[in-house]
Amino acid sequence: MKSNCIIVLVGPPGAGKGTQAEKLVEEFDLVLISTGQVLREEVKKGSILGREANEIMGRGELVPDVVVAEVVRQRINGGGSSQGILLDGFPRNLSQASLLEGFQGDRRVIVINVHVDEEVILKRLTGRRHCVDCGRIYNLWLSTPQQKDRCDACGASLVQRDDDRRAVVQNRFRVYREETEPLIEEYSKKHQYFVVDGNQKPQAVYKEVCNKLEKLELEEDALAMKSKQGMA
Ligand code: AMP
Repeated sequence: MKSNCIIVLVGPPGAGKGTQAEKLVEEFDLVLISTGQVLREEVKKGSILGREANEIMGRGELVPDVVVAEVVRQRINGGGSSQGILLDGFPRNLSQASLLEGFQGDRRVIVINVHVDEEVILKRLTGRRHCVDCGRIYNLWLSTPQQKDRCDACGASLVQRDDDRRAVVQNRFRVYREETEPLIEEYSKKHQYFVVDGNQKPQAVYKEVCNKLEKLELEEDALAMKSKQGMA
């Protein structure tokens, strides 16, 4: 993947963006910026940012736009320029998208929308558990651990994210519909954009993402070749 691009993963909470992001950064040598992950780490550390974000995240609301944008700006500017960037969970609304425009430089944006039906997501999120120690993720219905509350890999406890509780999940959905859907609408017209079917198993979703990214690159190479031939 070319170094001058920013891939933005959008989709409702629980669409599996994090899983896809992990695979994509490995395969395409991208720098991953996951705002949810960064914020959870700050909460764990008990930093000022973490303390500010903790309560908001617990309610399923959005952390203020400028705060999150600053987190992303620092990481984009702090990284080398030789790698492309993968954004998971940012931008989440139109205001964050315009903040991103202010510091993305000449990088072009590619948007991947992971579409998943709402009932599938509810099952995924409310059943999701993670290991307090190694971070491995399970689902009580879909990828069951051998013991309900123990990690198969390291034996530590499995816990539920505060914001995966049903009432909070419902709020996160509301926020998604009100804030993020209008952004997706705008992004679909403005940038290179494609939708993948996130109802499938992660490996199948990943295959679809890769196929579509490769097609995009081939199309671009063909265009570049054409314009070169035109100039010759
Ligand atoms: P996620 O892991 O992406 O589902 O994010 C978990 C929570 O972190 C969200 O429900 C928000 O409270 C917060 N968060 C993550 N990314 C953003 C963002 N771009 N803007 C505001 N809040 C965010």
